[in-house]
Amino acid sequence: MGLVKETTSGIYNLLLGLWVTFKHLFRKPVTLQYPDERWEMPERSRGTIVLLSDPETGELNCTACMLCAKACPVAAITIERKKDPETKKNYPTLFTLDTTVCCYCGLCEQACNFDAIKLTGKYEFSVSDKSELLYEMDFLQEIGRDVKYVKKKKAAKKAKKAAPKKDTGEKSAEKPAAKTAEEKKEDSNEEDKAKDKTSGEPKEKGPEDKTE
Ligand code: SF4
Ligand code: SF4
Repeated sequence: MGLVKETTSGIYNLLLGLWVTFKHLFRKPVTLQYPDERWEMPERSRGTIVLLSDPETGELNCTACMLCAKACPVAAITIERKKDPETKKNYPTLFTLDTTVCCYCGLCEQACNFDAIKLTGKYEFSVSDKSELLYEMDFLQEIGRDVKYVKKKKAAKKAKKAAPKKDTGEKSAEKPAAKTAEEKKEDSNEEDKAKDKTSGEPKEKGPEDKTE
């Protein structure tokens, strides 16, 4: 009896497996032939960090303001700077990112007001030597050269234009609906009562109020 049961169960499972395989023959595969094919990462992915450059001049957008380094919760960014004696502007002489401690929170990108640092959808930066995970400024600039970005100010202006206008709280121009005869009567009664209360004049006593 046990042998029959086991054989039946085995045949059932075999057919079930074949059925599942057969069904997937006609479905579009979800796998990719990596590394020939790659997933396209979402626009707001928080992957490898890069330094952005001006597309026209090719120079770094970074002004060495230090905001990103101050915003970083794990002190992954180290910056050294100098002042240009002619333009009186700061520029970075050293910009190091320690990716071994970076938690890809994106705070550095949010803090930057100069569109200079960005978390991208780039990946495949594995190395066999841990010291190579300390990214220097030149490397960060190089891997950021092909990264397209919209300037924050431009994006903010666009968002402001697209946003629906706020309700100013002004009264609607529509006239209120006309009151019914009953409502008018009730209103006049209430007005009379209010007048009586506020007038302060003693009421004339009726014949029933007179005690003398
Ligand atoms: S993503 Fe976060 S942890 Fe990484 S460098 Fe930027 S602020 Fe620091
Ligand atoms: S990357 Fe941005 S926030 Fe960081 S130092 Fe440069 S300009 Fe300042």
